Amino acid sequence: LNTYENSQELFKRAVKVIPTGIPGHLGPVQSQFIPTSDFPFYAERAEGSYFWDLDGNKFIDYMCAYGPNVLGYNNPVVDKAAFDQFKKGNCMALPGKVQVEFAELLVDTIEGADWAMFMKNGGDATSFALMIARAATGRKKLVRIKGGYHGVAPWTQVDGHAGVVSEDISNNLFMEWNDAEAFERLISDYPGQIAGLIATPYDHRIFTDNALPKPGYWQKIRQLCTDNGIVLIIDDVRCGFRLDMGGSAKYFGFEPDLACYCKALANGYNISSVVGKDSLRDAASKVFYTGSYWSSAVPMAAGIACINELKRIDGPRLMIEKGEKLTAGLKKTAEANGIDLVISGVPSMFYMRIANDNSLMMHQEFCAECAKRGVFFVSHHNHFINCSLSDEDIAKTLEVAEEAFRIVKKNNPDKCN
Ligand code: PMP
Repeated sequence: LNTYENSQELFKRAVKVIPTGIPGHLGPVQSQFIPTSDFPFYAERAEGSYFWDLDGNKFIDYMCAYGPNVLGYNNPVVDKAAFDQFKKGNCMALPGKVQVEFAELLVDTIEGADWAMFMKNGGDATSFALMIARAATGRKKLVRIKGGYHGVAPWTQVDGHAGVVSEDISNNLFMEWNDAEAFERLISDYPGQIAGLIATPYDHRIFTDNALPKPGYWQKIRQLCTDNGIVLIIDDVRCGFRLDMGGSAKYFGFEPDLACYCKALANGYNISSVVGKDSLRDAASKVFYTGSYWSSAVPMAAGIACINELKRIDGPRLMIEKGEKLTAGLKKTAEANGIDLVISGVPSMFYMRIANDNSLMMHQEFCAECAKRGVFFVSHHNHFINCSLSDEDIAKTLEVAEEAFRIVKKNNPDKCN
């Protein structure tokens, strides 16, 4: 069984020089790694659908760096394109040709996109989209889905969070997911004040069974936005290209005004994008928005190769099929052990929860037992499939899951059927 001495030793050094040791969602302090001693903290290297930790343990990785690993770590086609560009130049005084080529490719690829602009992180994209919506409408308010995640900029945060002041979030209005009538009510409560609505294409919140849009939901929201001059922003940062190469909005049958992309754009090279409609081209031109590394050419070359490769192999279909196979197997294995495993969301980005117990402790136990045996799941967050995941990986995962479910059942006999 895996143990994590080297990870833990390094973490002890980290907390002396880095607040929390590992900041943010990858860290054990505020995240999902409970109990911490059951999970690795640091990766040494990665290849295909695996990573190895500092203690030499190998994992089949269902987090995929929280999304960026879409083709498989170290994909040779993407890496070659990146290294070829690296030899020519990366961060230069002017953008490279690849900036235009990448924008052309995204305009060709994403349904309804007339232009594309680039930045680094998903949060850069969502903040830019909000500024464009405000610039275009001259309005302040933004409608959001309660609990929706759009990054860490102050406007995305919650009242009472450290470092956030009420002015940062005073223009946010909230509605529940899948409730178009609530949107209608906000429009009538705040006439002429709403600049935009931002939402993920389906509800893939943490700690919650994920929910797809109800039939007609997006079409109704689209109509309400059009009728009321509200900019419809899709945050496809997490799901983009895991459902459809035309974007998740295409998959669900509607066209946003702006869409934000990041995770699957370049197989781990750092780049994000906002794509938009012609009607917002002027507003996008007027907003001053840039960064030291935003024109770097290597991630753009990687992005071109990544998108072309995803298209060539029909990546979204592959990931959906692999996800279906895996989740059907997990559910069956769970059932055989008296465990009610609820799978939700989309197969290429499935969310799972052991529902025998509302505390989620059984689920955490399951994840820890899997990690000890080389399968990396986390509790409370959706998982990610990548294109290099093999049938053998799935078979091995199901073997490990079977053992882990058996242990969970043994430890919780009163809660299992
Ligand atoms: N929106 C969504 C839906 C996300 O999943 C994320 C990242 N988890 C972000 C925005 C923010 O992206 P980043 O962390 O790259 O800034």
